Amino acid sequence: MQKNLKMSLLVTGTVAFDAIETPFGKTDKIIGGAATYISLAASYFTQSVNLIGVVGDDFPADYIDFLNKKGINTKGLQVKEGEKSFFWSGRYFNDMNSRETLITELNVLANFDPIVPEEYAEPDFLMLGNLAPIVQSTLINRLSKKPKLIVMDTMNFWMDIALEDLKETIKLVNVLTINDEEARQLSGEYSLRKAAKVIQLMGPKYLIIKKGEHGALLFHENEIFYAPAMLLEDVFDPTGAGDTFAGGFIGWLAKTGDISFENMKRAIIYGSAMASFCVEKFGTENILEIPESALIERVAQFKKLSHFEM
Ligand code: AMP
Repeated sequence: MQKNLKMSLLVTGTVAFDAIETPFGKTDKIIGGAATYISLAASYFTQSVNLIGVVGDDFPADYIDFLNKKGINTKGLQVKEGEKSFFWSGRYFNDMNSRETLITELNVLANFDPIVPEEYAEPDFLMLGNLAPIVQSTLINRLSKKPKLIVMDTMNFWMDIALEDLKETIKLVNVLTINDEEARQLSGEYSLRKAAKVIQLMGPKYLIIKKGEHGALLFHENEIFYAPAMLLEDVFDPTGAGDTFAGGFIGWLAKTGDISFENMKRAIIYGSAMASFCVEKFGTENILEIPESALIERVAQFKKLSHFEM
């Protein structure tokens, strides 16, 4: 795919170890983290992905080299000597659409100060992956130019322990992506339509509600767009699907430079296509090398899935 060369994309979020349990198997510590999935997914669309994050000295240098080979700039990835990387462990239930967090060890993340290298300071697009909301807002405030678009992802963990910070950060972003349960928790409304209204009043003009195997909804003013998820025969591990979706979404917007509602619909389809690859294997394995033809084919399948003539 012809990659964007002009628009720069800044990505932050966790770079982590995960231990995952699904009905199909279990992993030891494997590489994960929101920013890992986001950067990998976005790298298929845009040449300049600048990453800001933090890991401990337990994080494999080989993997950082691999990210660099994918065109991901890791100058902003701090490596803390003598400290441990963020660790998350989760278990999926039989339906694979819901999960429980077993362990969250913040480790290096507890004192993360997001330092912005000079060459990163004027991004066209900013993707705030899952992180402490105070770190996300600190990063916004450290940029020397306001990005064309700021997209933020978060999760229930931060709603439980840092709700006020989260509400302050949400005010600063253009697009918020969360899952359906989180939208209900944040808004206090069960109906997703009502929840979307409440959340849009908190600041973001665009809201994406992810519904796992049931696809994703995009809300903007009174408009709603719904994209199904790919109907796959086998789903092995949904971890990172939301982040991979976000990476594909912002990657497409950065590639095209177009932030209209119409183009966001396309971005949602590219995000959904990327996420569909992610869930077919454990961790990041299936998004390390996606052939261009496979991506094009999957986007075509999405088009067919819900296209009809009136
Ligand atoms: P997703 O399945 O898209 O929600 O993202 C899963 C990824 O998020 C995993 O790779 C975890 O390392 C990371 N993660 C889990 N909990 C947190 C948290 N509280 N803050 C930031 N990242 C997290």
